[in-house]
Amino acid sequence: MTESPIWHPFTQHGLREAIPEIVSAQGATLRTADGREVIDAISSWWVTTHGHAHPTIVAAIAEQAARLDQIIFAGWTHGPAEELARSLRGLMPANLKRVFFSDSGSTSVEVALKMALGYWLHRGEPRDKIIVMDHGYHGDTIGTMSVGARGAFNRAYQPLLFDVTSIPFPFAEAEEATLDALDVACREGAAAFIVEPLVLGAGGMLMYSPQTLAEMRRICAAHGTLFIADEVMTGWGRTGSLLACEQAGIEPDILCLSKGLTGGAIPLAVTMASEPIYAAHLSTDRSRMFFHSSSYTANPIACAAANANIAIWQQEPVIDRIATLAARQASHLLRFQSHPQVRNARQAGTITAFDVGDADGYLSDLAPRMLAMFRERGVLLRPLGNMVYVMPPYCIEADALHEIYDTIEEVLAELFG
Ligand SMILES: *Cc1c(COP(=O)(O)O)cnc(C)c1O
Repeated sequence: MTESPIWHPFTQHGLREAIPEIVSAQGATLRTADGREVIDAISSWWVTTHGHAHPTIVAAIAEQAARLDQIIFAGWTHGPAEELARSLRGLMPANLKRVFFSDSGSTSVEVALKMALGYWLHRGEPRDKIIVMDHGYHGDTIGTMSVGARGAFNRAYQPLLFDVTSIPFPFAEAEEATLDALDVACREGAAAFIVEPLVLGAGGMLMYSPQTLAEMRRICAAHGTLFIADEVMTGWGRTGSLLACEQAGIEPDILCLSKGLTGGAIPLAVTMASEPIYAAHLSTDRSRMFFHSSSYTANPIACAAANANIAIWQQEPVIDRIATLAARQASHLLRFQSHPQVRNARQAGTITAFDVGDADGYLSDLAPRMLAMFRERGVLLRPLGNMVYVMPPYCIEADALHEIYDTIEEVLAELFG
């Protein structure tokens, strides 16, 4: 066979690592072209919530594709988007009355940043500084890299990234430094603070408390700095509740949702905004409209999938399933709490994570070695540097979850003897 022309994301083709082909998936199980089964322990990169090929979502996609596949969304509308926007308004924090559609987590964040700057400009009080948190991740576009952690991932693009004010991650016992830094940055008149509530995902599954999240929200409110919650990863039940913000009892000014929005079946994102942000753009003056769109904004098939996702949340015991998974995750994590090669075993809802060995950084060769070992053993896990995490679909069976942790133990034993 000739070499594939595909240039894969986050892949160093020069290492010539195997790239298995998946032909089908059901629940938490993937099937490869050579007939093997693989357990999806990371929800196909944090998107699959109810499991692959959930019949409700599959049917909704098929039905919608045959009825109305695509329609321009500037100046036109359609039923699936109207239904979805109304449902989101009912499900999400009450102050978030406006729903803007886009296609990915990154674009939902770009939209959030543009809304924030538009808000300040149209109020006649231009502010442009964005406050971010160390180790944050908000996507791979130029704007989202600008508000994310800087490092090997984006060194080449550094000249294109805009300046931000960064506050430290609230490590345990060091929360005060984070809150003080946020207070100082807000006093200087920042436009917005963007943060991943409770769990910083790509930054290393770093977890902090709901109390700190609530405090950060309070500080922003005190200074009028807009609070942007990037729940692209944490939303749709990952941390144990529908939104991570719920656990802190807070309402953000702007909310970004994507990954689990369609149950993980098809790309879609929304940025939800409070009424004052919408109102700041509202005018008879066309120059104040919100200048953002993409060809597939609010694609009807994707919206139908999202409506099916919400139907599943309403018709099936999703929160109970999440609670069961979280409890099982906790009991498995216990095995690693005192493991000699494991540090910082931690959990937020359905997500567990721990650091292994003492190697450091994303580019340590531990990650690709472990990844290959997991793959050989039929488990899809993708360690971030020396950090291993488990984030399965909520439907995963007890046996499969058990197998994931047995495999991790086996791999650690082989690596560290
Ligand atoms: C994955 C992720 C994004 C980017 O979403 P894409 O759909 O990959 O563009 C943004 N923010 C957070 C917190 C994420 O985990």
